[in-house]
Amino acid sequence: MTEPLLDVQGVRKEFDGVPVLRDVSFSAQSGTVTVVIGPSGSGKTTLLRTLNALDVADGGTIRIDDVSADFGSTVDKRVLKSFRAQSGMVFQSHNLFPHKTVLQNIVEGPVVVQKRPADEAAKDARVLLDQVGLADKADSYPFQLSGGQQQRVGIARALALQPELMLFDEPTSALDPELVGEVLVVMKNLAAEGWTMVVVTHEIKFAQQVADQVLFIDNGVVLESGTPAEVLAEPKQERTQQFLKRIL
Ligand code: ADP
Repeated sequence: MTEPLLDVQGVRKEFDGVPVLRDVSFSAQSGTVTVVIGPSGSGKTTLLRTLNALDVADGGTIRIDDVSADFGSTVDKRVLKSFRAQSGMVFQSHNLFPHKTVLQNIVEGPVVVQKRPADEAAKDARVLLDQVGLADKADSYPFQLSGGQQQRVGIARALALQPELMLFDEPTSALDPELVGEVLVVMKNLAAEGWTMVVVTHEIKFAQQVADQVLFIDNGVVLESGTPAEVLAEPKQERTQQFLKRIL
């Protein structure tokens, strides 16, 4: 097997002395989808935020491609900046700039952060909008879109920064039920295109269909991991069984 694109070993994070991630380890090969499930408050969001360096881990190591950090000692700011650049994050709610058009929202990062030429960024943004099924919405404002469409713009905006890894934090949980499907379809397409994705979600059907591996996180540790067939259909741990029973 080749080197995983993402390798997480013994990651710890606490807030105000309260441990939230106790000892999280997993790895993900390039082009695979990792679905993270687990009870509310178990540390799933915090895990994504440490991968993206929005939160800085207190211990353990994280490697994304050729950039690695040992959080047992002080980590160089440049490394944290690389982590931020290497992963694109899609949040529960889109937080688009309300006064900018869809296209302007997407080109903002590439132009302002990456200093890419505006015309080139706009051209790429239109390709991305087509990819998320919103080619005709480039000049619309966020308030003119449905929640599902806004979330798809959020995905295009994260893709525009050309990350190596896409992180999704419950991307459909704030949506009306009838809008969930269109966002999941876009995510399925990204998976089929070979994007490496880590997805926190309660959408078990999506996990069954798309995940290469499923992690069940409980109380800040990966209690159980494996293929969807292993973790979702025949969970070994009682906590996993209870959790799945509750949400299915
Ligand atoms: P999950 O995504 O599994 O619901 P989270 O990672 O959001 O879990 O949260 C895990 C725990 O960490 C919760 O108890 C939450 O209150 C706490 N927590 C998360 N972020 C912070 C923060 N910035 N400051 C203090 N506590 C936090």
